[in-house]
Amino acid sequence: MTIQQERHVLVVFPHPDDEAFGVSGTITTHIQQGTPVTYACLTLGEMGRNLGNPPFATRESLPAVRKKELLASAEAMGLTDLRMMGLRDKTIEFEDDEKMVRMMTDLIEELNPSKIITFYPGFAVHPDHEATARAVVRAVRRMKDRPTLHGVAFANDTLEKLGNPDVVYNISDVRTQKMNSMKAHISQTAWMLEEMEHKLQQGDTETENWLMQERFYNYRWDEDFEKSF
Ligand SMILES: [Zn+2]
Repeated sequence: MTIQQERHVLVVFPHPDDEAFGVSGTITTHIQQGTPVTYACLTLGEMGRNLGNPPFATRESLPAVRKKELLASAEAMGLTDLRMMGLRDKTIEFEDDEKMVRMMTDLIEELNPSKIITFYPGFAVHPDHEATARAVVRAVRRMKDRPTLHGVAFANDTLEKLGNPDVVYNISDVRTQKMNSMKAHISQTAWMLEEMEHKLQQGDTETENWLMQERFYNYRWDEDFEKSF
């Protein structure tokens, strides 16, 4: 599938590095096509488990480290409109629902995006991911003219319950930018990248496909998901 020109794309994730593995190629392509892209990153991932061994950061210095990495990832993708929303890592699930929906609604009203990318609620694994996805869905649900809503799903039961992704983009044209976005988050991704590069060198096609394809599900408004949250 070809990535289409959009009026504006809004990307919403809770943690620095959420964009890198599954979406950075799509973001880069939109930007290269001249579509304005805004990435709203809700936290600085300050509770990230990885402080390095030997440690490169303390609990206190980690937010600054991850902020720098996030900025480097944005630069790798050519993204200029990065919004750091200032919420605290691992607390989004405890935020007031209406406050979260308001935050999303404000962004959507300001930017008027034709497409929004976030996690797919119910298939986003981490509580912060789920809370982010729910807030976006709730905000968009209230709109009269809904933008396209593309969800990233990676729970183990995704294929079983959602089937194959509705949208698959081949992003190999922007491979370098994607690699650089992933590398930008080195404090969290080092071991994973090392493993990945090793597999790629061995010509592992599964890893190659995983990396060069970005997959999305259209949010299914007709399945009344609201009931489950
Ligand atoms: Zn995350």
